[in-house]
Amino acid sequence: MSGVPSILLPWQQPQFKRMQMLWSNDRLAHGWLLSGKPGIGKLAFARHVARFLLCRRSSDSGPCGQCQDCHLHTMRTHPDALLVLPEALERALFPDDSPKGKDKPSRQLKIEQIRDAIEFAQGTAQRGGAKVIIINPAESMNTNSANALLKILEEPPPRTFLLLVSEQPGLLLATLRSRCQQLPFVAPPASQALTWLRAQADCPPDIEFYLQLAQGAPLHALRLAADNASSGFRQLWQTIVGVGSGTTTPVQAAKACEGLGIVNAIDYQLLGLGSLLASNQGGTPLTLTALEPLQAVCPPGSGIAMTRRLHGLHQSLIQARRIALATNNANAQLMLEQLFAQWSALMAKPLRRS
Ligand SMILES: [Zn+2]
Repeated sequence: MSGVPSILLPWQQPQFKRMQMLWSNDRLAHGWLLSGKPGIGKLAFARHVARFLLCRRSSDSGPCGQCQDCHLHTMRTHPDALLVLPEALERALFPDDSPKGKDKPSRQLKIEQIRDAIEFAQGTAQRGGAKVIIINPAESMNTNSANALLKILEEPPPRTFLLLVSEQPGLLLATLRSRCQQLPFVAPPASQALTWLRAQADCPPDIEFYLQLAQGAPLHALRLAADNASSGFRQLWQTIVGVGSGTTTPVQAAKACEGLGIVNAIDYQLLGLGSLLASNQGGTPLTLTALEPLQAVCPPGSGIAMTRRLHGLHQSLIQARRIALATNNANAQLMLEQLFAQWSALMAKPLRRS
C-alpha cells in the first residue's frame, strides 16, 4: 500500500458513523480534531471523510466511488479538497506528485501553507458543494499559523470543514483544540488488525512481529515491514545492551546508528522502551523474542524506581524526537550520545526491588 488512500479501515466504523449521522442531519461541526497514535489510519480516515463530504451521491455507507467528485478526489485533483502536509511528508507519501527539489524539505508546516488554506476556506466552492481542508500533522503548525487558522473556526465559511490530524493533540494551541469536535482513534484489537493486515498485498509472513513492535498500530506495522526494520531494530537493541554492559561507549553507539537516521533510531528506542515499561509494570517477561536480550536491562517487575527511570528516558526520547523533527540541522550524533548515556546510567545503577 503506497501513499495514503482515502479508505475507511474496519476499526474506524464508530468514528465514521458519528460524522455521517451529523452530516445527514445537517449538524456536522466545521472543525474536527482527529487524534491518536501513529499508524492507525487517521489520515486515511480524514481523506475518506473528505471524499464522503464532496461526493454528491454518497449514502450512509460512504462515498459512491463512481461520480466525478469521487474520481477527482481519488486523483488528488478535486478543486474543493485541500490536503496540507509538511513538504517532507508530502514527498514521502506522494513521491510521484512532488517536485524533486535538491533542498532538504521542511518537516514543519509553513505559514504560507496555512495562509493558502485560509484563502481556500474563504473562497467559493468551485464544484458547488462542500469544501474540505485536512491539516496533518496539526501540531507542526507554529503559534502564528494556529492563531490565523483559529479565525476560520470562529467564523466558519458555509459548508467548509477543517479536519486537523494530530498524534500529539496536547501540543496544539488550547484555543484551537477547544474549537474542534474531538474524534479520538485507538489501535484495533490484535485479532482485527491481523485479519486486515493479512489481506493486504504487501503483508509479510512475520507481520505479527511488526504489529507487536508497532504496539498494535497496523499501518505502522506495514511501514516497519516495508523498511525491513527488524534488522535495524535488532542491531539497535544489541547496541543498547553493549552500552549497558560497558563494551560500547555512548559515542560508539551513536556512530553505529548513522545508517538508521536519527528519527528511526529514536523511534526504535521508543518502541523497545514501551515494551520494557509494560513488562516492568505488569511483572511479565517481554513477549517479543527480538527484545529478549534487553530483559537484562530490567527484569520483569523491577519495581517503581525502575519504572520512574524508564519514564524519564521516555520523556528524553520524546523531546529528542520533537527536536529532530522540527530542525533539519539537529545535531544527531550529539543527541544520540546523550540518549545512550541515559541508557547506560539506567542500567549501571543497582536498584533495590520495591
Ligand atoms: Zn461519489
